[in-house]
Amino acid sequence: MSTISAGKGKSKYNIHISGNNFPKIVLNKHLGNKNKILIITDDGIPKKHIKKLIDAIKSREVNVFSIKNGEKSKSLSTYQKILNKLFELKFDRSDIVIAFGGGVVGDIAGFSAATYMRGIKFIQIPTTLLAQVDSSVGGKTAINVTQGKNLVGAFYNPSLVVISTCFLNTLSDEEYKSGLGEVVKYALIGNKRLKTFIEKNSKEIINRKESVLKIIIEESIKTKSKIVTKDEKENGIRAILNFGHTFGHAIEAHNNFKNITHGAAIALGMVIASKLSYFEGHISDYQLDNIVNLIASIGLNTDHSKYKYTQLEKYIKSDKKIKDGKLNLILINKNYSAFTTSNFNKKNVLKALH
Ligand code: NAD
Repeated sequence: MSTISAGKGKSKYNIHISGNNFPKIVLNKHLGNKNKILIITDDGIPKKHIKKLIDAIKSREVNVFSIKNGEKSKSLSTYQKILNKLFELKFDRSDIVIAFGGGVVGDIAGFSAATYMRGIKFIQIPTTLLAQVDSSVGGKTAINVTQGKNLVGAFYNPSLVVISTCFLNTLSDEEYKSGLGEVVKYALIGNKRLKTFIEKNSKEIINRKESVLKIIIEESIKTKSKIVTKDEKENGIRAILNFGHTFGHAIEAHNNFKNITHGAAIALGMVIASKLSYFEGHISDYQLDNIVNLIASIGLNTDHSKYKYTQLEKYIKSDKKIKDGKLNLILINKNYSAFTTSNFNKKNVLKALH
């Protein structure tokens, strides 16, 4: 098992990463003796995983609240139901919420914990690869409202993140690949060790080999925790975590957030952003090929030809990264490091999206 920390001062927390052995000692030590526990999960997560977690928590009051799986559950009405449950169980500030699931569960359970009684302790035990390498770390919690996705939320760090590869074998190929989209992002925004590791182990990654999974998760978390600790509230460097996201989000929105996973859309977004980096002269044609091959080597689609600029334009123009009327994009340079710029030629965006 390895441990990485994130956050600063009082909101510092540990992220424990283990292979297929679920690290129950670490979890129980953190839980202490007296607290009530509410596990928030969803009905798409195999029952055997939930049983494993309950069995791992030693003799104390454990309650489980299961929400319907899927993005629609990240809603005000589910949030209200979770609050009702916490009130019904008479939770106070010494009690603990455990988010046990993918990013949907993590985001809404985290937001509920952040706001119930002005904030109670919460633990993330992510069960999708995407949640393990991305959403469980960094303290962003949110729900969706009619005005848009993730528009109501809070920056609220968990008190602990427990990651185990034991949950990943039941993930569908689609959901697994969605997580790989974020893994390859860390390799491209500066983690060269991870980039080389993916290049050498693509087959083992596709086959979900335990030891290989542990390394890609660890390397991803190292990069994410370093960046979010430097910039907790996204005022600067954290923006590079959005490499591929402006175009990727536009593709997701164009598809009404259906039929394409987040990671698959981000993979296409990274290809488009890399092409733009090439047309802007930041990387060579060899490097562009290298990036596209890296993304394809772990089974992700790199063909974005069915998405045209005219279809994506309105979403690109409403991107959150617009500041003072200027669109900021995350591009990549010769050292395979990401950087933010509003200085690019629109003609090259059209070319990249051709
Ligand atoms: P998800 O939470 O919807 O999970 C995907 C599906 O996998 C669900 O149907 C779930 O029931 C199922 N599942 C979960 N674990 C499983 C397992 N071990 N075996 C089999 N099935 C399992 O999707 P996701 O991709 O994990 O998360 C997407 C969400 O994360 C989005 O709402 C996005 O906005 C959010 N997100 C948040 C952050 C952040 O920093 N807070 C970052 C990225 C994404």
